[in-house]
Amino acid sequence: MKEALQLPSPLQKLEIEIAKQKNIQIYLKRDDLIHPSISGNKWRKLKYNIQQAQQENKQTLLTFGGAFSNHISATAATGKMFGLKTIGIIRGEEHQPLNKTLQFATDCGMQLFYVDREKYRKKNNLDFQALIPDFDKEKTYILPEGGANALAIKGCAEIVDELNTPFDYIVCACGTGTTIAGIATNLQAHQQAIGIAVLKNEHLEQEIRQQIPSINARFSILPTRFGAYAKTTPELINFIKQFYSEHHILLDYVYTGKMMLTLFQLIEEYYFPENSTIIAIHTGGTKNANVFDVF
Ligand SMILES: *Cc1c(COP(=O)(O)O)cnc(C)c1O
Repeated sequence: MKEALQLPSPLQKLEIEIAKQKNIQIYLKRDDLIHPSISGNKWRKLKYNIQQAQQENKQTLLTFGGAFSNHISATAATGKMFGLKTIGIIRGEEHQPLNKTLQFATDCGMQLFYVDREKYRKKNNLDFQALIPDFDKEKTYILPEGGANALAIKGCAEIVDELNTPFDYIVCACGTGTTIAGIATNLQAHQQAIGIAVLKNEHLEQEIRQQIPSINARFSILPTRFGAYAKTTPELINFIKQFYSEHHILLDYVYTGKMMLTLFQLIEEYYFPENSTIIAIHTGGTKNANVFDVF
């Protein structure tokens, strides 16, 4: 199954009328094609964590997420691929039948434990021993929510190493901001990383700058234009369907659809100078949030 990872991921030129009119070139980095069930950037974030877990002789990966978390399903699939057991601590109550994300995680062998929102908020201090009957602290590698840690940043920086087309901007949807932070650690001074937030968190850019003082000076995170996480609008859904019919590329409605629609709007708003080259990252997500399944 390891051979099934498609790396480096392809870079695809997009033919987009509104961009052409402004002499702007857009390429899409197809991290969604890395693996059918390890959603795009989730592999980048897991790679060095898996290596670390193996070096420490861990047998189990334990992580956290909501019931629709791409990180949960990606961790489950990656654990299976590398022969590691997986445990998912899920926010909220159990709902039967399981949704697609959690059913897939369970099918990969992940054990799920549910904690209420109050406990979930304090998840880093959870008493795992009390929650998980056969919990073995020594053999368990704990990954933070969203896989967001320094090794994940290191993995995401490799997206830039794979690019051999000169570019000015690199644009990516962001949740925890780990992916765009990793990218931004690996840019030249004239290049700019732009994160498109899908959650309301006004402090994200500042938090990342504090965490990584050496980050590219031009790095920025733009606020979401779509309200709450996973909220959709008819405009967004139509956009994703239209984009699919024109380019035969599926975008998800939680992350990449919002990133691409915002990117188009920014182009129309003259955010980017003429003759710019932009690389957008397709971070995946289409398995769990496919408009054609839901809308
Ligand atoms: C998790 C995820 C993101 C967000 O990545 P962060 O590193 O948390 O910012 C973006 N796109 C997709 C499809 C994702 O699943």
